[in-house]
Amino acid sequence: MTQSALGMAYLTHAQLGNHNAGEGSKQLSDLKMYGNRPYISGQAYRHAIREAIQDSAEENVECTPQDACGDLENCLLCDIFGYMNMDLDEPTPEKRVSPLRVTPLVGQYDADVTTDMILQYAPGGSRKKDDDDDGNAEENKIGYRELTDNVYKGAWMLDCDSIGQREREGFDDDNEPGHRYERDLDTVVEDRPERVQILLDGLKNASGLAGQARHMADFMPDVVVATANDTYSQRVTNTLHIEDGELNIPAFESVVEDLTHDGGDVWVAGTHNPTVMDNWDAFFDAAEADENVTVCDSVSDCYDKLAATLD
Ligand SMILES: [Zn+2]
Repeated sequence: MTQSALGMAYLTHAQLGNHNAGEGSKQLSDLKMYGNRPYISGQAYRHAIREAIQDSAEENVECTPQDACGDLENCLLCDIFGYMNMDLDEPTPEKRVSPLRVTPLVGQYDADVTTDMILQYAPGGSRKKDDDDDGNAEENKIGYRELTDNVYKGAWMLDCDSIGQREREGFDDDNEPGHRYERDLDTVVEDRPERVQILLDGLKNASGLAGQARHMADFMPDVVVATANDTYSQRVTNTLHIEDGELNIPAFESVVEDLTHDGGDVWVAGTHNPTVMDNWDAFFDAAEADENVTVCDSVSDCYDKLAATLD
């Protein structure tokens, strides 16, 4: 594979729902909030990506995080998401750092919150308490779910070198200077680009967040800045700043300078949705004019551009 790090920062409008509930109580699913803005935790988002991969991949996705197998060759999930399992025996290491890192998805606008009432019928269907003479019949239950909509900002980075490879760190204690620490990568999977492609498809199509049966929402990014680089860094996370409804274009241009300084590629794409920012057209004009940026025809095309760096 030619590039060792792929990444993306994005903005996405998600429709009304409660896509990642907080602690709440028995009757209430509250929203996870950061100030007046909802957020979706990195854990919930990783879970959604994992589910998308389990749905699309035909094999090697039966593992669970609670009892991770650690078999990178035969397990896409341990390979992509890392694992920790202290019960594993030599030579399988007890843990692996995830090659895929994600930020939480954070709402960019102060949010109005409404509450949806959820009626859970007692076993046997709708029934009033009076219908049962002994008074022991189960009653219908009422729950409440807080709902909001927002434009979320998020980012992910993938350390491609680690996919399909086992990292081994060694400490040399022979007291010779210069050889104290070594990092080796042993290839354990033949078709590593195929694994990255499966992951990119999972990232693109992830939708398995909470509440989708009643509050379906689209999580595919509306605005994307993607990058491929020789050196792993998480700089792309800083490309998109919304301030008072407008995307900060000089901040975008300045981070793009960094991303491309050492030969990295940057792509920008959007699915027209002016809800996301007030200066939509000005941002895309600036991206078109930036010689370091390639503007893609569609968001889907942008994922294809990342995949093409693997050939
Ligand atoms: Zn596994």
